[in-house]
Amino acid sequence: MRNLISIVLPVYNEEAGIVKTIEVLENFVEKQPQDFELLFIDDGSTDTSVSLIKSMQQKYRNIKLIEFSRNFGHQLAISAGIRYTMGDAVVVMDADLQDPPSVIPEMIRKWKKGAQVVYGKHKSRAGETWFKKISASLFYRFLQKIANINIPLDSGDFRLMDRCVIKELRKMNETDPFVRGLVSWVGFKQTSVEYERKERIAGSSKYPLKKMISLALSGITSFSDFPLKLLVWAGSISIGFSFVYLPVALITGFTTLKFLIGTLFGLIGLSLIGMGLLGIYIYKTFQASRKRPLYIVSDISGFSQASQSQNL
Ligand code: UDP
Ligand code: MG
Repeated sequence: MRNLISIVLPVYNEEAGIVKTIEVLENFVEKQPQDFELLFIDDGSTDTSVSLIKSMQQKYRNIKLIEFSRNFGHQLAISAGIRYTMGDAVVVMDADLQDPPSVIPEMIRKWKKGAQVVYGKHKSRAGETWFKKISASLFYRFLQKIANINIPLDSGDFRLMDRCVIKELRKMNETDPFVRGLVSWVGFKQTSVEYERKERIAGSSKYPLKKMISLALSGITSFSDFPLKLLVWAGSISIGFSFVYLPVALITGFTTLKFLIGTLFGLIGLSLIGMGLLGIYIYKTFQASRKRPLYIVSDISGFSQASQSQNL
């Protein structure tokens, strides 16, 4: 049986290039041995994107469209898209052809060989400002250092995921999902393909600085308690300083000013530690409220049929 591959494309005000994107994708899928569905999620576009996609639905039978009632953001658009896919594997990509479709066959090859996630890793990024390149590169590295899971460097949301991964992602109901982190978190066999990220075919980026910062914060707060631990460390250093400073001040001639400086560091240290610990408790509550599964079983063996149907 032919495999069905779903391509999920979030769209926000992409009227300048959406028709070209669809034509290029349709042209591409026609030549592939698999069947494809193109699932567009309109994230509250205020331009003509929706009517353009609808008009293309008349021409091509494999186009599906979900319309958000307003702009909910790229990550929620991807989450919704994933929920509605039917494919044996799902590919997420930008609707501006920055992620070239020519990489998809390579992803499918690796999937067929047993990988359950094949993520695209940027070899280069064309047509993006130096600010975006540097900030993105620093952010990926910072996040990898501080995250509690291994989030791959230099990859966005362009990736192929097997249905078993999609099944797990569908169970996640996070209010502020950081999809690429959740995909790493889910586990399974993950591998990468390197590719050159192209320039947008038309229009401008829908990721202004404000959205970039909010994505970065979402990544950090979803997968790391590092900032809170940093508070505890900073507090400890401050108290440590006060413990050394006060006795030295006592020996070398005690003044009111020295006393104030010493106690100030001690008190600041105490409150930093207090805030950090408080934060860590809140983080744990926050973790629990997200209701991520505690673990994911990828396979089982050696059980009898009866015990499988009873307990598993
Ligand atoms: N997008 C979205 N909602 C938003 C912002 C962007 O659905 O609020 C879509 C956008 O149409 C594109 C993809 O998400 O298909 C990535 O956005 P963009 O290409 O502007 O980001 P960049 O590639 O510049 O980082
Ligand atoms: Mg883009």
